This record gives sequence, structure tokens and C-alpha cells, in this order.
Amino acid sequence: MRIALIAHDKKKVNMVSLCHKFKDVLKKHELYATGTTGRLVSEETGLDVICLKSGPLGGDQQVGSMIADSQLDLVIFLRDPLTSQPHEPDVSALLRLCDVKNIPLATNVTSAEIMLRAVEREEIELQKIPSSIRKAKAKLRE
Ligand code: PGA
Repeated sequence: MRIALIAHDKKKVNMVSLCHKFKDVLKKHELYATGTTGRLVSEETGLDVICLKSGPLGGDQQVGSMIADSQLDLVIFLRDPLTSQPHEPDVSALLRLCDVKNIPLATNVTSAEIMLRAVEREEIELQKIPSSIRKAKAKLRE
């Protein structure tokens, strides 16, 4: 599965704990993250994470674009609901796209844990990758 990890600043410590707790599950999947979240998770847990741009600098939009292209199967976005974010429009767009594409989305630790347990038990279906994207990826690998 292709899993995106994003955490607002006050939630990064929770993201690192979550990734520690579910390291054995997460290491079997392809992990993507916004810049700072990804760097922290990879430094603190040793998990392989593909880091995109930092959230406020376009990382949330990159995740949104991957969702639009059916390149992600699951999103864990630990949001800080008590602090205003300069990139709130990007955050809203990403959340909206998850609903448009029916992508499982957890926005707090408890729901993320429930979702990762479902991943562990292989209860979440993979999104179908459109053949055009499969072909483009195969070309890149050549
Ligand atoms: P960051 O981005 O991981 O680069 O901090 C997260 C966000 O605020 O969207």
C-alpha cells in the first residue's frame, strides 16, 4: 500500500510515536510524507520514507496531486485543530480530494490506530492504479 503521512507541528511527536508503535506494519508499505514529517519519522524510526516538499511550501498540494492520480491508498494526517495554518487552503483541498477519491483518511491518532490495525489485517482494499499511470511508472523504471 502507498501511505501518506502528514503531521502539523504540534502533532509531529504523536506521528513519531504512532510510527514507532506500528513500525512492523508500516515497514511493509511504501511511505510518503511531507518534508519535515518525513524527515522526523525516518530519523526517529528508521523507516524508509519518500519525502515530498514541506507542507506549507507545497507538500500538501503534492499529496493532493498524488491522490488525484490514484497514487495513494491511505492518508494519515494528524491535524492541529487549535492552531491556524498559513496553508489552510491546501489542507482543505487535500481532505476534499480524499473524499472525492474515497481514500481512507485519519486525522487524529485514535482513528489512525484503527486504520493501521485494519491495514495489518489486510482489510483495506487497494485503489486501482489507472493503466496510464502504470505505464508511465514502468517507463520511468526502464
Ligand atoms: P511538514 O508539513 O511535514 O513539512 O511540516 C506538514 C504540514 O504542515 O502540512
